[in-house]
Amino acid sequence: MLNSKQNLNGIGMTSQRTRERLIGRLRDQGIDSMAVLDVMRSTPRHIFLDEALSHRAYEDVALPIGHNQTISQPYVVARMTEAIHTNHQLDRVLEIGTGCGYQTAVLARLAKRVMTIERIRPLLDRARKNLRALELRNIEFKHGDGSAGWPERGPYDAIITTAAPQHVPEVLLEQLADGGRMVIPVGADEIQELRLIQRNQQEFKETLLDRVRFVPLLTGQLQQ
Ligand code: SAH
Repeated sequence: MLNSKQNLNGIGMTSQRTRERLIGRLRDQGIDSMAVLDVMRSTPRHIFLDEALSHRAYEDVALPIGHNQTISQPYVVARMTEAIHTNHQLDRVLEIGTGCGYQTAVLARLAKRVMTIERIRPLLDRARKNLRALELRNIEFKHGDGSAGWPERGPYDAIITTAAPQHVPEVLLEQLADGGRMVIPVGADEIQELRLIQRNQQEFKETLLDRVRFVPLLTGQLQQ
């Protein structure tokens, strides 16, 4: 979490080197979009974590953020972002599962507008604070059940879901613009399939991108 302005610049002289090592790792794992690598390099991940975990911010792992939720693994954030951004204009993007706002920050620097939905109120408030500290202002927040999407703001050039449903919600497909893309982890098990879905009028083409591990997409009951 962000306590002061100095925190933005990070944790001493080592942090630049540590961040660079992370970028090297992303490259080794096949991320080759310069735009995505640049944004990953300049997004301070430590401000999204509690003080006690911030020394691990540039490790390529998911970490706990409270409320039984996690901040996504940098590789997965990069992979999902690359899948929607490469050769594709992003005017409006919908993110489902804001968490602490790390993926939101990356998206906000590559898209004109980002809409993001989170069901746990304290996490949404924390994300709002983190993203304001990074001076990202092209983001709209909603406390709600993201599995219904946000039709009033659509259609979207891309939809990113950062929690896993058992099946792709039909209503989300309907909110994709023609030519739009969705990245979504799908499955009931601990390990899910990360799918890229591309809309061409009423056709939806699916590609398997990876195997991933996300928290489940919960429906109903919001947590205040
Ligand atoms: N995008 C985050 C990852 C957050 S983890 C990052 O960059 O680190 C997934 C988040 O999805 C959790 O915060 C969880 O509360 C949220 N979530 C789960 N089901 C949801 C739903 N139906 N609607 C909105 N958010 C949901």
